[in-house]
Amino acid sequence: MRLDKLLSNMGYGSRKEVRQLLKKGAVRVNTETVKDAALHIDIDKDEVTILGEKVVYKEFIYLMMNKPQGVLSATEDLRDPTVIDLLDAEFRHFEPFPVGRLDKDTEGFLLLTNDGKLAHNLLSPKKGVPKTYFAHVEGIVTEEDVERFEEGVILDDGYETKPGRLAILKSAPVSEIELTITEGKYHQVKRMFEAVGKKVVYLKRLSMGPLTLDEGLGLGAYRELTVEEIALLE
Ligand code: URA
Repeated sequence: MRLDKLLSNMGYGSRKEVRQLLKKGAVRVNTETVKDAALHIDIDKDEVTILGEKVVYKEFIYLMMNKPQGVLSATEDLRDPTVIDLLDAEFRHFEPFPVGRLDKDTEGFLLLTNDGKLAHNLLSPKKGVPKTYFAHVEGIVTEEDVERFEEGVILDDGYETKPGRLAILKSAPVSEIELTITEGKYHQVKRMFEAVGKKVVYLKRLSMGPLTLDEGLGLGAYRELTVEEIALLE
């Protein structure tokens, strides 16, 4: 890979900014100070340093975001802000995309990555990766609903869902529940409640597979996954 591309990809600025760093003599490749932006770097062999600091090359990025309402889980949109707009340039240039979708008015756990293989595995219907949601539901959620979800409910398009594990946290005119499902049909949680005559008025995803939302992340905040968290996904 070209030296300027590598440094730009690793977050050291635009190609133009990187060329300025090179001109200043801030960049060394192995033992040499290098000013040639086009120099070919072998990422497995060459050691690049900037002002003495080693440049660690990474190809993939894995981010956990607490998605806020009003933002689309898409990479671009002409009208609405997307989750990509919330990222710093340092992460955006990896060209991450959201793994699966949350509705515009849904909050909570969203994984963003540029690792297509990992995303494919997490979303594959064959894998049935569990996703847990917290919701406020208009109407009194009952034990009968728990049983119906356990058996699978018929959605408005005739699709019968796989079993969902419903836990009632508060059964009230506006109930509070947690629901774990292993599929990701369009508006699935909202439509499952519609199937039992109730309306979701607030929805937040708490977890996906082995990862749980870091409650230290405020709405719209994100962080890189730790090495241990990435290993759990593989
Ligand atoms: N189910 C929904 O209805 N909406 C979401 O955003 C996610 C799951």
